Amino acid sequence: MRCCGSAGADLCSDCGLRSGLFLMLKRAVVLGSTGSIGRNALAVIDALRDEWMVAGLAAGADGRHLAEQANRFRPAAVALADERRAGELRSALVYEPRIRLGADAQVRLLEEVACDGVVSAVVGAGGLAGTLKAVEQGRRVALANKEAMVMAGALLVPLAKRTGATIIPVDSEHSAIFQALQGGRREDVERVYLTASGGPFRTWSLEAMEHVTVEEALRHPTWNMGPKITIDSATMMNKALEIVEARWLFDLPADKIEVVIHPESIIHALVEYRDGALLAQMSAPDMRMPIQYALTYPSRRACPAPRLDLGTVRQLTLQPPDVDRFPALRLGRVVAERGGTCGAVLNAGNEAAVELFREGLIPFTEIARGTERALEGHEFKAAATLEDLLAADRWARQEVTRCLSC
Ligand code: MG
Repeated sequence: MRCCGSAGADLCSDCGLRSGLFLMLKRAVVLGSTGSIGRNALAVIDALRDEWMVAGLAAGADGRHLAEQANRFRPAAVALADERRAGELRSALVYEPRIRLGADAQVRLLEEVACDGVVSAVVGAGGLAGTLKAVEQGRRVALANKEAMVMAGALLVPLAKRTGATIIPVDSEHSAIFQALQGGRREDVERVYLTASGGPFRTWSLEAMEHVTVEEALRHPTWNMGPKITIDSATMMNKALEIVEARWLFDLPADKIEVVIHPESIIHALVEYRDGALLAQMSAPDMRMPIQYALTYPSRRACPAPRLDLGTVRQLTLQPPDVDRFPALRLGRVVAERGGTCGAVLNAGNEAAVELFREGLIPFTEIARGTERALEGHEFKAAATLEDLLAADRWARQEVTRCLSC
């Protein structure tokens, strides 16, 4: 428990809350707590400590960082996927939470820890099992793990309807759509626009992009994010994944989801209604706002993220994307239209290609090309089960690795 419950005292000396108040707090489990979104989620929960407490934390491999977070927030249980790092976790802990280790540790954590909300912030397909479990349990799911929705939206969305789970997007564009949808009726929505900064190579030629280095791809102009999503932003594969994510989250056909380049990253998305009204959500590019909204929805609370200072906004640029220079965008549309196993192949093919690029084995432009070849070559199944999706995921990783190194 977060609170030491110092009996008899007016205020608890540990958490500063009135004694006994911790009983009323909502309990959060953060999956992927040591990553960029996970760290921001903990900052938000810390700021909301009169409403939320941390009940469980799960990380991939950073045992020391997980221990630091646990020592601060005192969850009842922690999970670490990489068992080889258990020693550094144990030696850095200053109390004795339950510890779960191994590839299925995040799922066991969810099974064993009662909670009111799950922040699903593992990066990549590795977050699917935890996201599925949280949805199966009928939780409020603050979904940052877009890859789970890209892979398995066709399973997750109906499952949430059955279990009563509320999936609230944390991805800034989807949070923005979710917020702008509060301004009208769903049947009156004509289309949505996902904004994209365009990444560091927005103005580069295709030829110049052939020679992009890993370091250049990791330098995002407006957002401070983890390495995988930063490279996805540079290829604009991130926007392709987000088209698919929006297709499932908001039950929209692909032709109602547009992408618009907006280098200032101030407008996060727009919803266009039947009467021509465009509702845009604007805020400073800081993930703490969408994370917090996913936890406090439908309420709004003061947020630790910086405010957008309108006095400093000189211009807001909106322009169409160049699909020839950023072919990943085309893939997003195709996958959103076809559904089935395509999402799993798009995501896994991209994850494998990004790894190869980071290892210096393929040029930057091969990330989208290799993923496209996997999509074209895969055995498509329209009504895919979870097993089909996992098999498609495995196949795509092998295929991209095999093709790109030959
Ligand atoms: Mg996004």
